[in-house]
Amino acid sequence: MSKSLVIVESPAKAKTISKILGNGFEVIPSMGHVVDLPRTRMGVDIEHNFAPSFIVAASKKKILSRIKSEAREADKIYLATDPDREGEAIAWNIREKLNRDDKKYLRVVFHELTPQAVKDAFSHPGELDTKKVQAQTGRRVLDRLVGYLLSPLLWRKIAGGLSAGRVQSVALRLIVEREREIQKFVPQEYWEIEAELKKVTRSPGHQVTGQFVAKLEKIDDKKIEIKNQDEAQQIVEDLKGKEFVVSDIKETEKRRNPLPPFITSTLQQDGFYKLRFRSARTMLIAQQLYEGIELGAEGAVGLITYMRTDSVNVAQSAIAEARRFIADKFGKSYLPDAPNFYKSRKQAQEAHEAIRPASVLRAPDLIKEYLTNEQLKLYILIYQRFIASQMRPAVYAVTSVEIKAGKYLFRASGSKLLFKGFTAIYDLSEEKEEKNILPPLLKDEILELIKLTPSQHFTKPPPRFSEATLVKTLEEEGIGRPSTYAPIIQTLTFRDYVRRLKGQLHPTELGFKVSDLLVEYFTEVINVKFTANMEEELDEIEEGNLEWVKVVNDFYGPFKIRLDYANETIQKEVVTTDEICAACAKPMVVKWSRKGKFLSCSDFPACRYAKSITTGIKCPQDGCSGELIERHSRRGLFYGCTGYPKCTYIAKTLPEKIADSEK
Ligand SMILES: [Zn+2]
Ligand SMILES: [Zn+2]
Repeated sequence: MSKSLVIVESPAKAKTISKILGNGFEVIPSMGHVVDLPRTRMGVDIEHNFAPSFIVAASKKKILSRIKSEAREADKIYLATDPDREGEAIAWNIREKLNRDDKKYLRVVFHELTPQAVKDAFSHPGELDTKKVQAQTGRRVLDRLVGYLLSPLLWRKIAGGLSAGRVQSVALRLIVEREREIQKFVPQEYWEIEAELKKVTRSPGHQVTGQFVAKLEKIDDKKIEIKNQDEAQQIVEDLKGKEFVVSDIKETEKRRNPLPPFITSTLQQDGFYKLRFRSARTMLIAQQLYEGIELGAEGAVGLITYMRTDSVNVAQSAIAEARRFIADKFGKSYLPDAPNFYKSRKQAQEAHEAIRPASVLRAPDLIKEYLTNEQLKLYILIYQRFIASQMRPAVYAVTSVEIKAGKYLFRASGSKLLFKGFTAIYDLSEEKEEKNILPPLLKDEILELIKLTPSQHFTKPPPRFSEATLVKTLEEEGIGRPSTYAPIIQTLTFRDYVRRLKGQLHPTELGFKVSDLLVEYFTEVINVKFTANMEEELDEIEEGNLEWVKVVNDFYGPFKIRLDYANETIQKEVVTTDEICAACAKPMVVKWSRKGKFLSCSDFPACRYAKSITTGIKCPQDGCSGELIERHSRRGLFYGCTGYPKCTYIAKTLPEKIADSEK
């Protein structure tokens, strides 16, 4: 029997597919891209239609030669890389490098690594989609141009070694702008008044009364604004002795629809909210689940569909399986008459699917012994969200009550769950539940006032981005795509433009400087609308409506004008300090490196004296004359001693008490 060669990206995927296809197929992992743009030069020929020079990386030479020798023996070569632009480009480049008989090459596309899906794909192989490859090439070239041409500006103005990216810079701008809003924010004081009320049941034997809380909303039919304690106190005085009467009761039924099955952005958000996973962690674990997990005697099985997607489509067979499961497990009352249908944000016509379990019959409990703790947690999340998406809505009885006390109007509301619906499996805990339970009330009923509680509040600044809210914003604004959300955040933190503190993204001083420079000179390029447009044009290339060279060329013209202007005008800024150089007594100036700022002699390079900028707090170690200095590692921020390596003192926080007593 003649042998067929199958090329995939990763060893885990190779193993899973190999088991499904059985004898007669040799499955080789390419370990990602075999060719890429060079590391040491731009590799884009601007003069000649931006032709990229893709080269074989040294680390990939061995793999490529193995693929080549296997390809010689094979009668058919199946390109089975992932079902997106990047997968298409990997496959395309491998074929280009092998450069052999075209008829031997077949593209197979599947969204899950299950026997059914893989066998289906292999019995209907197709051609490589050159439009997808073009879109990917366009993105690579754009990103290369921006990165390679912008970074030197940062070196000249701020410090060597810095880099700027096309999409990351927009994300950084969003984070920096938010931080400025927070800095500018002036909190406004306001007060609220709550009334604790009690139902008075006069009929004997029914002494039980319900207690609840109502909030003051209006005075003389106008929305209240209480600015300070005096005003609040006055109202409380005025309310004393007033009769509290139920003036209106509204009973409504509220339905809460299930959420669509996960796509990349929503999976990353729920991963953050419910599991506290960073975006990159969520994607890594999802990839493991997709590429295949060893399930004992069953061998390696792909547990979920492809994790990079912006489509909420679900295969008919998967919907049918979910509906049978829901009817069995929860009963017919939980099953909608017709399957729930969801619309993708952008009407995607491709055959992409949402992220769902490969089979709902593989319940988390049945396979948990084969999964790591993190894999299990993420699988449960994906599993429950998918089942829930095909269930009936939850139904609540909502009661809203208005209570009048003279010219004052209070409101209270309460809700009661009537039917669990999809919440029987999917936890909505990120939303605050209303704790207030209202007793049965009648119109014109007089209530007993137990207590009036005025409380002080302040308006709050907009919240900092978390990984979850940043991904949500990037998606809503149309910046980035499923494959780019996690790398954007990773890059910003890796370059120390942004730091994570308690789950929030804080720009560093370096981040501010880089963003300000880019916005000053490239505000038309480093902005949300422009970048979203660019993404759409890349989509258009994939649709076959645009040529990638035209898209890059249209971008490059105006970009070059800005670039030339920046190159002419940008100068290194010099910030002098009061400090005197210990070597030559000239003033010291502030300089930047990739690791942050430091003091350098103004006579550099004649005098090479430099010193760190410390916190000014003495090292608490006995006999050490050093000072504490801010440092950061992959694990986060810490404080070390300027006497390092002689003194190895480190601390997570500054020892403030010592600092105070020294002053
Ligand atoms: Zn000096
Ligand atoms: Zn020390």
